[in-house]
Amino acid sequence: MAHSHVHAEPHGEELTSAARAAMKRAGEQWTPMRAAVYAALAANERPASAYDIAEAVSRAEGRRVVANSVYRILDLFVAANLAQRVESANAYIVNAHPGCLHDCIFLICDRCGRTDHIDDDRISQDLRGAASAAGFAPVRPVVEVRGLCAACTES
Ligand SMILES: [Zn+2]
Ligand SMILES: [Zn+2]
Repeated sequence: MAHSHVHAEPHGEELTSAARAAMKRAGEQWTPMRAAVYAALAANERPASAYDIAEAVSRAEGRRVVANSVYRILDLFVAANLAQRVESANAYIVNAHPGCLHDCIFLICDRCGRTDHIDDDRISQDLRGAASAAGFAPVRPVVEVRGLCAACTES
């Protein structure tokens, strides 16, 4: 049932350290290329596509980095809980809490693209329960709410 844990949402250098630790736990190396992809992803407040990240890394590194290799790294980040896929935006965003696992609920602004997230384990457990009750083996509930962020609602 609901187990308590220290839910931490670090920022800046601390977030990068937490991400490195999560990679290590997953048995993966923190290579210079992976560090560059992570830095480019973390610099975005909005979900970024593998192409956006490839562009940013190419600029930062001064050499051509193809989207395909970025895809592989992003998928690895998702598997290791460093990044998350925002399905309805077909893009990726840095995971605010690489130290703990949640079925994050994304709130995506249709006007400015700002993407916030909330964690409500009660909602995701209900979804997993409903899927199981239907004889389905749930792996990952995807809950994304499209609408207007607070700033866009005011303007
Ligand atoms: Zn979350
Ligand atoms: Zn907005």
